[in-house]
Amino acid sequence: MKIVAVSTHLVYAGMRNWVLVRIDTDEGIAGVGEATLEGKEATMAAAVGELARYLVGRDPRPVQHHWHAMYQAFWKGGPVLQSALAGVEIALWDIKGKALGVPIYELLGGPVRDRVRAYTHVRRPGAVQGERVNMWWEQGTPEASAALARELVSRGFTALKTGPFVEHGTRRDRGWLRRTVERAAAIRDAVGPDVELMIDLHGRLEPAAAIGFAEDVAALRLYFLEEPVAPENLEALGRVARNTRVPLAVGERLYSKYDFWGLLRLGIVEFVQPDVCHCGGIAELRSIAAMAEACQVRVAPHNPLGPVATAAALQVAAAIPNFALLETKVDDVPWRSQLLTRPLLPVDGYFALPTGPGLGIEVDWAVAAAHPYQAQDLPRATHEDGSVAIW
Ligand code: MG
Repeated sequence: MKIVAVSTHLVYAGMRNWVLVRIDTDEGIAGVGEATLEGKEATMAAAVGELARYLVGRDPRPVQHHWHAMYQAFWKGGPVLQSALAGVEIALWDIKGKALGVPIYELLGGPVRDRVRAYTHVRRPGAVQGERVNMWWEQGTPEASAALARELVSRGFTALKTGPFVEHGTRRDRGWLRRTVERAAAIRDAVGPDVELMIDLHGRLEPAAAIGFAEDVAALRLYFLEEPVAPENLEALGRVARNTRVPLAVGERLYSKYDFWGLLRLGIVEFVQPDVCHCGGIAELRSIAAMAEACQVRVAPHNPLGPVATAAALQVAAAIPNFALLETKVDDVPWRSQLLTRPLLPVDGYFALPTGPGLGIEVDWAVAAAHPYQAQDLPRATHEDGSVAIW
């Protein structure tokens, strides 16, 4: 079997473009992966194109060998290179599973659970402006958030995440933090004590402010507080960890086993959140999970991207013993479930294990083509004085 083509397909999905990677072989088996990196989609297409120079003409089945050949190319790590590597690595696993007629998790040792617990966001899709569905800004009042949380629990979710608005700043705006606490408290009141609740701060606070925020939400019994400080400085995260009993989670902006080793050796988080599309792919996520297992840390994969990313994360979640929760999008674009010929959606808060070979999915390429790329940047957070906030 030989690889004959590697292509990227950018699919506009409201708040991001999904970067789908397709690898075709001379035996008619095609694999799909995802390399979504918001605001950098054209960069990702170029980065995948450069990996194609290595891949085309080779047998796709020695996945781990190809990963190392592409990774050990002197320039390594970081969101762009690791997401490109992830996109092609996932597609190579898909081909291998299809060639052998088994789900990928069977090649990772077989399933260790019957189903995969999901969580979702207490966040309604925002106003539709033309084709744009702006979800970054719309979260509503505490009452609206509480009502939505109740609705999500009635749909079977047992774990929910909320966070602050995006567009305003950090510690200089006490109201911004107070409203975040009020929203989370309203959600806790609405869903009761037995639903798991998380808050994602997207790295917007400095350590002292994060420690104060953790005190303010301690009574809510969070499952975890996510990215309380920006991820570039793990010592700052350590300061927060030493001064709060709220469990911390971090990892969507760490990009390989090497990055996660730097975090895990500090013993400062209860959960890691590698994204299969950013951390280098399926085998790398599994390696990170194994390191976390040795540190008695659980894995809650970051997973707000497209349906192919969810399919890849499910394969790993099925096979690692220290899996906790899988992030999932349910209401980002109304046609999300149509991108796959058989929808991949949680039922009663859990995903069933996929049963088909490889990723167990097929992309409907006509649906993908119907939503062509639209250039857009991630929003920039600013303070009330116009200066740019950390994010
Ligand atoms: Mg996050």
